[in-house]
Amino acid sequence: MTLEWAFVALGSNIGDRNASLELARERLAALPGTTLAAASAIEETEPLGPVPQGTYLNQMALLHTELAPRELLDACLRIEMEAGRERRERWGPRVLDLDIVRYGDREVREPGLTIPHPELPNRPFWLRELAELESYVE
Ligand code: AMP
Repeated sequence: MTLEWAFVALGSNIGDRNASLELARERLAALPGTTLAAASAIEETEPLGPVPQGTYLNQMALLHTELAPRELLDACLRIEMEAGRERRERWGPRVLDLDIVRYGDREVREPGLTIPHPELPNRPFWLRELAELESYVE
């Protein structure tokens, strides 16, 4: 098993947004073979896309993990469900959204999983948050 650094973006714009981010941090930290090495500052951002909705709280988590990318994705989807996420409308509001932004230096192009996340260049807040956490990666 190799340990890899993984950056996971947390976002929430419905309900108790801070509580949803906290739940996500707790659950990510408790995943097997995984530690939560650091988390960025929480940033409030305007929603992207065509659907009118409330502002988001965003945060980036840095994990040190033995989980493979697909295992980490499955874990993220389970945590989203636990947080009460129901609708999967593209660009729609969400209690919790977890995105794998980077996984070491790996490039993954599989059905349902693209890493680095293709939206990375379009999301200045992700780029800011990555920069904030870069110093933790050895
Ligand atoms: P969304 O909830 O709109 O962010 O889309 C979630 C879906 O995007 C998931 O079911 C994944 O299959 C897919 N996906 C593709 N690449 C990624 C990634 N890097 N991180 C998270 N989800 C991804």
